[in-house]
Amino acid sequence: MKKFFLSAMMLMCAAVVVAQEAEKKEYPKPEAMRPAMTEFWLPQPKVVTPGDEATNSAPSDAIILFDGKNLDAWCSARTGEAAEWDVHDGVFTVNKRKGDIKTRESFGSFQLHIEWCIPEGITGTSQGRGNSGVFLQDKYEIQILDCYQNETYANGQTGSVYKQVIPLANAMRKPGEWNVYDIIYTAPVFNEDGTFRAAPVVTVIQNGIVLLNNYVIRGTTQYIGHPQVIPHGDAPIRLQSHGDPSAPISYRNIWIRKM
Ligand code: MG
Repeated sequence: MKKFFLSAMMLMCAAVVVAQEAEKKEYPKPEAMRPAMTEFWLPQPKVVTPGDEATNSAPSDAIILFDGKNLDAWCSARTGEAAEWDVHDGVFTVNKRKGDIKTRESFGSFQLHIEWCIPEGITGTSQGRGNSGVFLQDKYEIQILDCYQNETYANGQTGSVYKQVIPLANAMRKPGEWNVYDIIYTAPVFNEDGTFRAAPVVTVIQNGIVLLNNYVIRGTTQYIGHPQVIPHGDAPIRLQSHGDPSAPISYRNIWIRKM
């Protein structure tokens, strides 16, 4: 027994010696950080010349969807034929008899700039006053409505993803004044079974005020019923010709940047 304890003690002493030796051993130390170690020079972002504030022009890499001249970039959403909304005075006005229009080109993720005006003296209430809308990828409506001193259901206001989310603010200008939408949209990615791997996400700024901040869209805009998840690829921007009886709204200065 005594012999066993002696052996154990010797082993423990040996282990302590080995540990002490290891402490003395020198290992390489991480190099001290220098500022240049976290500075990346490539790739350099492409140069984009901003639009001119005085003339309200588009950035240099934007695709012009309407610059006051014609609707060549658009077509009838129903027939694919030429868009027959009314171009005049550098703007165009919804033609309620002709239905929605959409861009001829399809888009994935983008930054969209679009200006719109509710006509002065407009009448009607709730959803029946200046109703239009911007459908992202033809499926998800960012509502346009005269919400200036005009109450409606909160998730149907200007800046909502229609019937999905209440905007963070009511940033409306008066009828007769121009409103500006800047919309930043990330397109969805789908799983093979048609569900979202990554749902679409949208930020909406109206007149410089954030209405939606990275809102995760639940699915397609439905007037009746819940949003649907329908797989799709790149798709057009669609503008709504709503059937409400009020005077039609106008659009101008529309451009888009692919992201
Ligand atoms: Mg609408």
